[in-house]
Amino acid sequence: MSQRGFTSQLLHADRRGGIEHGSIHKPVHTAVTYGYDDARELAAVFQGRSPGYTYGRQVNPTVTALQDKITLMEDGVASAAFATGMAAIGTTLFALLRNGDHMVSSSFLFGNTNSLFNSFDVHGVSVSFADATSVDDIAEAINESTKLVFVETIANPRTQVSDLEAIGRLCAERGLIYVVDNTLTTPYLFRPKSVGASLVINSLTKYVGGHANALGGAVTETGHYAWESFSNIYDDYKKGDPSGWAIQQIKKKGIRDFGATLGPEAAHHLSIGSDTLGLRMDRICANALALAKWLDADPRVQRVYYPGLPGHPEHALASRLFGGFGGILSIDLPPPLDCFDFLNRLELVICTSNLGDTRSLAIPVAHSIYFEMGPERRAEMGIDDSLVRFSIGIEDEADLIADFDQALG
Ligand SMILES: *Cc1c(COP(=O)(O)O)cnc(C)c1O
Repeated sequence: MSQRGFTSQLLHADRRGGIEHGSIHKPVHTAVTYGYDDARELAAVFQGRSPGYTYGRQVNPTVTALQDKITLMEDGVASAAFATGMAAIGTTLFALLRNGDHMVSSSFLFGNTNSLFNSFDVHGVSVSFADATSVDDIAEAINESTKLVFVETIANPRTQVSDLEAIGRLCAERGLIYVVDNTLTTPYLFRPKSVGASLVINSLTKYVGGHANALGGAVTETGHYAWESFSNIYDDYKKGDPSGWAIQQIKKKGIRDFGATLGPEAAHHLSIGSDTLGLRMDRICANALALAKWLDADPRVQRVYYPGLPGHPEHALASRLFGGFGGILSIDLPPPLDCFDFLNRLELVICTSNLGDTRSLAIPVAHSIYFEMGPERRAEMGIDDSLVRFSIGIEDEADLIADFDQALG
C-alpha cells in the first residue's frame, strides 16, 4: 500500500491496473468465455501456468478488479468475491473444513449465519457457540478437533463487540484459523488484519456497495495464517507462496465447484459504490452517534444499544479499535409503546430489512429476521420482542431526530 489515504487509493485503484482506452474505472465485461488463438496458451491458462480468463463461473475481469479493490481496502494478500455475503461465509467454510472438524463461533451472529452454522452439524462439522465478548468463553469452547474461530466485529442487532485482539492472540497460540466478519465495521473503520485475523469476510451488499442495488460478498486472505501447517489443503493447491493456498482452494473448491459466482454487473455496482465508502461511513457514524445520544437521553426509550455510548459494555474496546462506531443502533421500547405502532409512525426511516444503505432503515427484529430461530435462541442472543434495529443512513441529522421524535409520540 502506498502512503495515500483510504479514499484516494480506492478512487485511483482500477485505472492504475491499465484499463483499455484510458477508461477511469473497470468496464463491465459480460463475456462468459474467452477465446485463444493458440490452444497451448488455453491449456497454460487452465493449468494456472499463465494468467488469463477461462470461464465466467470461475473468473471475470470486472470481478477480478473488484477483488483487487477489496484486497487493497483490507490491506490483504488476495480476495475472492461471491454472489452474496452468505455465499462468502458458506463457501469459505465448506472449502476449508472437513467431516469431523469442529469450529467455535460467536453466539452473537447475523441471523442467516446462525442458521447456516446450525445446519453444519448434519454435514459432519460441529459448531460450539460462545460469548465472543469474552476470550475466556471462546477458549473454553475449543477442543482437540477445533480448526477455526468465527466472530463478527460488531454484532447485529445488540451491537456486542467481540474481544477481537484477545481472540486473535488465542488463535495464534493455538494455531487456529481466525475468521472475522467485518461487515458492520467495514475496512474503513477497522482492519481485522490488525488483530491477527486469518480471513476477513465482508458482505459487500451492505456498506461497501452502500446503495442497496447489488448483492455481493468477499473473503480476504490477510497473510497471517501458516497454511502449510493446515491439514485440509489439497496437494493441488499447495503451489507457490503458502499465503495463497487457502484462497486458491476457496476459489477452486468453493467458487468454481459450488458456483456462487458474483456477476460482472453486480461487481461494477459494488465497485462504484465502494469509492465513497469513507465519506458515507463518516456521515453514517456521525448521524448514528448523534441519534444514539439523543435517544439515550429520552425517557420515552427504555434502552439504547450503540457502541459509541459510554455506557455500552465494550465502549472502551470499540473506541480503541474502530475509527467510528458504525451505523447500527437498536432500542428497546418501554412496554406500553408497541414497536409496530412506532415503526408505522416513522416517515423518513424506511421499515425494511437490510442494512448499510444510504437511507435509514428500521426493523422489528424478533418478529422478522430472528423469528425463525425461536424464543429460546433469541433470549440467548438478548433479543427482546420490543427490540427495534436501525441502520442509520446519510440523511440530514436534524431530519432524523425530528422523525424519531414524532414517531415516539
Ligand atoms: C448481511 C450480512 C451477511 C450476509 O450478506 P448477504 O450479502 O446478505 O448475503 C453476513 N454477515 C453480516 C454481518 C451481515 O450483516
